[in-house]
Amino acid sequence: MKKTIKDLDIKDKRVLVRCDFNVPLDDNGTITDDNRITTAVPTIEYILKKGGKAVLMSHLGRPKGIPNKKLSLKPVAKKLEEILGTKVVFGDYDEVVNEEVVQLSNKDFDKILLLQNTRFRKEEKENDENFAKELSKLGDIFINDAFGTSHRAHASNVGVAKILPNAVGFLVEKEIEKIGGVLENPEKPFIAILGGAKVSDKINVIDNLLNIADKIIIGGGMAFTFVAAQGYEVGKSILEKDKIDLAKRLMKKAEDKGVDLVLPIDYKVAEEFSNDSEWKTVSFENIPSDYMGLDIGEKSIELFSNLIKNAKTVVWNGPMGVFEFDNFAEGTNKICQVLAENDIISIIGGGDSAAAVKKAGLEKSMTHISTGGGASLEFMEGKKLPGIEVIDDK
Ligand code: AMP
Repeated sequence: MKKTIKDLDIKDKRVLVRCDFNVPLDDNGTITDDNRITTAVPTIEYILKKGGKAVLMSHLGRPKGIPNKKLSLKPVAKKLEEILGTKVVFGDYDEVVNEEVVQLSNKDFDKILLLQNTRFRKEEKENDENFAKELSKLGDIFINDAFGTSHRAHASNVGVAKILPNAVGFLVEKEIEKIGGVLENPEKPFIAILGGAKVSDKINVIDNLLNIADKIIIGGGMAFTFVAAQGYEVGKSILEKDKIDLAKRLMKKAEDKGVDLVLPIDYKVAEEFSNDSEWKTVSFENIPSDYMGLDIGEKSIELFSNLIKNAKTVVWNGPMGVFEFDNFAEGTNKICQVLAENDIISIIGGGDSAAAVKKAGLEKSMTHISTGGGASLEFMEGKKLPGIEVIDDK
């Protein structure tokens, strides 16, 4: 078990916290979704309540080691101030940490300090020891509360954790408890639903979940590689030819393990990759050569819904179709609804499935929506995440 923030003495300490404030910004630099800020609040409030000072750091976007005004964390400082109703000092220095910032971290009366984008320094992604040492001057203890970057070993998570006494924050604790709990000891029947564009992104997840799940439902673009593996035509649908043998191997593994690998039995197919394209529904053996599958069909929705209704636990990662197009969002939306309407432990991987749940306004009905896309995938692959591994055990 990893140490959590509750295991450390916070009083009068400067608590250096790695947050994930990688929020979406529009062209005017306005934050369009503040979920990543609100989910960081419990840890920050706890630090203040316990008499500590919070020194917050995060990356934003991909500045590639070069300071870039458009990727400044200044709007985050303002938003955080609004949400907390407390002053947030912004360390507005492109070098992220310098003597002035160290002084700011030592000022008693300002209880929250947010640093500039850690990726303004190229040493961040290099997990440079000297940069980690510089950052560690800003805290007496370190908390990793950025699940979304925990699959990466960078200076602001792994580097500083090696120097300072450390623990995970409430957000990371919850991710470990919810996703880790399901992987270790799921209430059965346990169904994994996997979708999205490519099978190549999810091979290791399927492989690992075949050891744990009772059934794996596959939808989205990746299903067509399985259709081809069964010897049928996929028309103009997205297909990874070089992964057909692998799909065959996964189907064989499922059979050997007694896990049902459930594929769509029909598809909504269109002539063009467009919301406005004419479409029709065809069975999986009859995809016409000049059409592409953009969503699962009615019969698949019914089949999948009936299976899901009987599950106790469901892990879901990846949409069932091109849900960005309203005409091809039904499969994905119906999965959201079935999960919301039934008494199921529902764990939603970050990224597009999380976006679909939000679009449907059903966030509150899910057990857990992960804050990390790549991190949650790697977790489900059974990999150790370096940002969590580095944290001390209890
Ligand atoms: P991923 O990031 O791998 O979860 O993939 C998500 C993307 O897969 C979304 O942008 C979907 O539009 C896309 N996708 C889902 N189904 C299909 C499909 N049948 N054909 C093409 N793209 C798809």
